Amino acid sequence: MVLVTGSSSGLGSSIIEKYASNNYNCVINYFSHKEEANELKEKLEKKYNVKCLTIKADVSNDEEVKSMFDKIINEFNRIDVVVNNAGIALDTLFELKTKKDFMKTLEVNLYGTFNVSRVFGEYMYKQKHGSIINISSTNGIDTYYEFSMDYDASKAGVINLTHNLANKFAPYVRVNCICPGWVKTPMNKDLDDKFIKEETNKILLNRFAEPNEIANLVYFLSTEEASYINDSIIRIDGGIKC
Ligand code: NAD
Repeated sequence: MVLVTGSSSGLGSSIIEKYASNNYNCVINYFSHKEEANELKEKLEKKYNVKCLTIKADVSNDEEVKSMFDKIINEFNRIDVVVNNAGIALDTLFELKTKKDFMKTLEVNLYGTFNVSRVFGEYMYKQKHGSIINISSTNGIDTYYEFSMDYDASKAGVINLTHNLANKFAPYVRVNCICPGWVKTPMNKDLDDKFIKEETNKILLNRFAEPNEIANLVYFLSTEEASYINDSIIRIDGGIKC
C-alpha cells in the first residue's frame, strides 16, 4: 500500500491514481481539501477496486503524523511506499519576504519530509522493505527565482535529506528524489501568461509537464524494475536551458 502526502490535488492526486491503477491500496493524506480527498477516494475505489483511506494531517506536525501512522498500520498492517509530495510555495517579492513565510516554507517542505520519513522509514526498516520518494524541484538544483528563494532552499534541503535518509535506512529501504521542472498543477495557477511563455521557451520540449508524466516516474522508482536505484536525484523537466 502507498501513502502520498498532500494527495487531494495536483501532482499528488495523479501520483496516487497511478498507484491505484496498479492495484495498490491508497492513503490520501490531505491538509485542507477534505471534499476533494473524499471525491478522489470514491473515484479510485470505484474505478480500480482498491481500498482507500483519507487522512487529514499536517506533515509538519509531529502528533498528526504519528496519528496518521497509527491509523495506517491499524488498517493495513504494512506500508510499502511513501511519497513525500506535500509542499507549499509562498512566492513573494524578495524585498517583502518575511521570516514567518520563510520558516513556514521550510517547515512544510523540509521538516514535513523529514517528519514523515522518520516515522514511516523506521517502520519500513523494521519490516525490511519499503520505498520512499521525495518530491524536490529543479529549483532545488539550478533554476533561480528571486520570488521563491525560500522554496528553492527548502527543495535543496530535500535533496540533501534524501542522501541522509538513504544512508539511515539502508539496506532495506530505497530512498530516491525527483526534481520536476514546471508541471501543470494548481501551484502554478497564478502565473501570468507572459511569464509562462518565457519559461516555456526555456524548455526543450516547449511545454510544461502533465502531472501524469511525473507520476509515471514516481511509480517506476518504487517498483522492482528500479530495485538498484537508490539515493538518486533524478530531474524530470523536459530539458530546461537556464
Ligand atoms: P499543489 O498545491 O496542487 O499540491 C500541494 C499539496 O500539498 C496540496 O494538496 C496541499 O493541500 C498539500 N499541503 C500543503 N501543505 C501541507 C501540509 N502542511 N500537510 C499536508 N499537505 C499539505 O501543488 P503541486 O504542484 O501538485 O505540488 C506537489 C509537489 O510537487 C510539491 O512538493 C511541489 O513543491 C512539487 N513541485 C511542483 C512543481 C510544479 O511546477 N507544479 C514543480 C516542481 C516540484
